[in-house]
Amino acid sequence: MLYRSTRSDGKSVDSMKAVLEGLSPDGGLYMPAIFPEAPDLYRSLIGKTFAETAEAVFSLFLNDFDDIPGIVKKAYSGKFDTPEITPLKKVGDRFVLELFHGPTSAFKDVALSALPVLMSEAVRKTGSGKDVLILTATSGDTGKAAMEGFKDVDRIRILVFYPDGGVSPIQEKQMTSQEGQNLAAVAVRGNFDDAQTAVKSVFKRIAKEGWSGECRTDLSSANSINVGRLVPQIVYYFKAYSDLVGMGEITVGDEVDFTVPTGNFGDILAGFFAKKLGLPVRKFILAANENDVLSDFIETGRYDKNRPFYRTSSPSMDILVSSNLERLLFLLSGGDASYVKGLMEELAETGVYEVTDEIFRKLQEEFSAGSADDVETAETIREVYDRYGYLIDPHTAVAWFVSTVEMLRSETKVPNVVLSTASPYKFPKDVLNALGEIADPDPFAVMSQLEKKTGTKAPENLRNLSGKPVRFRDVIDREEIFDYVVKYAMEGRK
Ligand SMILES: *Cc1c(COP(=O)(O)O)cnc(C)c1O
Repeated sequence: MLYRSTRSDGKSVDSMKAVLEGLSPDGGLYMPAIFPEAPDLYRSLIGKTFAETAEAVFSLFLNDFDDIPGIVKKAYSGKFDTPEITPLKKVGDRFVLELFHGPTSAFKDVALSALPVLMSEAVRKTGSGKDVLILTATSGDTGKAAMEGFKDVDRIRILVFYPDGGVSPIQEKQMTSQEGQNLAAVAVRGNFDDAQTAVKSVFKRIAKEGWSGECRTDLSSANSINVGRLVPQIVYYFKAYSDLVGMGEITVGDEVDFTVPTGNFGDILAGFFAKKLGLPVRKFILAANENDVLSDFIETGRYDKNRPFYRTSSPSMDILVSSNLERLLFLLSGGDASYVKGLMEELAETGVYEVTDEIFRKLQEEFSAGSADDVETAETIREVYDRYGYLIDPHTAVAWFVSTVEMLRSETKVPNVVLSTASPYKFPKDVLNALGEIADPDPFAVMSQLEKKTGTKAPENLRNLSGKPVRFRDVIDREEIFDYVVKYAMEGRK
């Protein structure tokens, strides 16, 4: 499979190179040069395991890799706390797709269990002879999942940048206590968008000027812009559909809705890829928190990031510049790279762009959208717990709230699958407060409070964090990121 950039009609690269590079050198994102057709794929995946489903999806998009079954096995076996990997639960009048059973208790694990395996294969095979340094900006969950995934992987190192004070205390401790000799986490003053923009500019500057001095390192990204992140996320949409059939809730061919708590547009875009591969989806319902730039975009066709940035109880969605939206624009414009490039330039210069009427119409056909503020989010956590005894985290609650609005609004009823992206124990204070309890100042004591209150159990990996020593304490300004990266890369020179 060949991949091309969303921003120019230049040369294509194979899937290994796309995984290895992360971002195209022109600043665009890699997209399949020809989108694969597989109208019967979803039928053939009914009743299959997660691993079998992953093998089928990987084979379509990552076919330059040998031994895909081996890659899938290495990525997923023994890492998740349930053999189903991404179980689907019926909760009240809808379905919850639990994506948080991996090693760091967030949905990022599904993709970041596979990416390191793919990337080290690609390093080994395509061998520029250089090592790879991965740069990742995180709004909280990607950082830890990437560090865990890449921990002590041969010939790969990773630097994670997170917004200082912009992640939950548990998320921060997850990153700052991470073990491994090939990694570090750094707090950056500013918000996620500042960190993401600064990291992207490091890629651009190195691509243009190279390192000033000899450095045997290539840069890559573990952010959701990497196709190696996107592809594994397609898998659970097929799996959820198959599970609905298995549960007797639908028959093969029926349409379903998916509600997706959205930040960088990676998760929901993977769903859209599944639909393009033939999965019978009626609508994707995009759920945003108070940073509602995306839900406004779906409703108006105008993207406007010039608005206040809020720190919310769902920090992994505190994003105003949503990278993967660029891929959707590319698809909806029929692969018009110069159009996409123009929009991205407008965004960089003015913070605003507006799509054509035709694209807006397509957006409206495929997506609905809504948002929830922190009060609505907390009320939803309490309501879902009171009614169904089911505990959800704030990100999932945002999606639940928006799916409720959507279900009331839509005339025909189809099953609604709400994607649950994190364990409630990653955000114990907000969840406990939502249940009407006063939280202890110590986040780990709050985990115990939450266990006692609800009779649920904190995942091992989060429970064990409290005793771990902090290894990384650097706090820097975003202007310092470039020098920080150069220094880290040079230190690693062999
Ligand atoms: C990253 C994340 C999201 C948003 O996913 P995108 O792919 O960035 O849209 C939602 N919830 C949680 C818990 C996350 O970690």
